[in-house]
Amino acid sequence: MSIQILPPLLANQIAAGEVVERPASVVKELVENCLDAGADRIDIEVEKGGAKLIRIRDNGVGIPKDELILALSRHATSKVATLADLEGIASLGFRGEALASISSVSRLTLTSRPATQPEAWQAQAEGRDMAVTVRPAAHPVGTTVEVLDLFFNTPARRKFLRSEKTEFAHIDELIRRLALSRFDVTFVLRHNGKPVRQYRAASDPAACNRRVGVACGERFIQQALTVRSEHQGLLLHGWLVPPKADGSPAPELQYSYVNGRMMRDKLINHAIRQACVEALGVELAPAYVLYLELDPRQVDVNVHPAKHEVRFHEARLVHDFLLQVLREALRSVRPGVAESAS
Ligand code: ADP
Ligand code: MG
Repeated sequence: MSIQILPPLLANQIAAGEVVERPASVVKELVENCLDAGADRIDIEVEKGGAKLIRIRDNGVGIPKDELILALSRHATSKVATLADLEGIASLGFRGEALASISSVSRLTLTSRPATQPEAWQAQAEGRDMAVTVRPAAHPVGTTVEVLDLFFNTPARRKFLRSEKTEFAHIDELIRRLALSRFDVTFVLRHNGKPVRQYRAASDPAACNRRVGVACGERFIQQALTVRSEHQGLLLHGWLVPPKADGSPAPELQYSYVNGRMMRDKLINHAIRQACVEALGVELAPAYVLYLELDPRQVDVNVHPAKHEVRFHEARLVHDFLLQVLREALRSVRPGVAESAS
């Protein structure tokens, strides 16, 4: 075969392979867009575990009519314009790929109205060349993205969808983690027409604790130590349940965030485990919800397409800071105390 430029649909479907693994990954990309748009209320509605329908509505800034087509194009983003922007990125998105990717493997409709526009418009991607049609619609200020029949045109992917229950469990878990990333935003999750979860916006510490209780269970919040420490531009805060001396596990719950972004970060996990060993002499992982905040220029988030890894410029400094703060927090509870607290 001679060298050819991939047709747009195929190029987008290949890109979709990197970020759209299952319905929950669609929900993640779409909800992150709502957060980037400044929404303080996000409604997530799914049917059949997301395989049939994912509909996400926000009350954010909206998209002007003349940018709807761009929003669905690959490499089109309002979030970065220069390398300097990318190096200090504060938004969750920056790749400009999610909407193009998702629309190449589903039937996607984007409806939006910015506050400056008296009416809403709706865009729909269709066909092999990803042409987009735009028509008037009814919608309050904000945006709704509707994703129907995920993977309908990529049967190999569709085959990998698990049961409705499993796919929904992934979405539920994802919304829990996202809800823990932004206490100032209300998240409502519905499945097959029924409300399943509601995380109400919380502003004071008591309301935040209640929300952690809703997300992580009452047992977690009742046993949790509160952590908060700042040093040389690094801030760590959150909740931590030490492992028990009798070897019984803490609740199976390990959530970490870097600058508000959910992470599965090896460095953070390592520091936490080592803190347990040094403070309590046990090799068990604690349960935690921890937030690390630092200058965005000190972190590279452009490491993985799904963005759940980061690279710290000063990895050792970050690791030692986490280790020291957590070791001290854990030393305040001797293993015996942790045991009797349960
Ligand atoms: P990225 O988030 O990386 O910029 P996306 O493909 O997810 O790329 O979105 C493309 C663009 O569409 C965004 O940069 C943003 O301008 C716009 N957009 C997407 N979703 C929303 C939303 N819910 N509210 C407002 N604007 C949105
Ligand atoms: Mg995005």
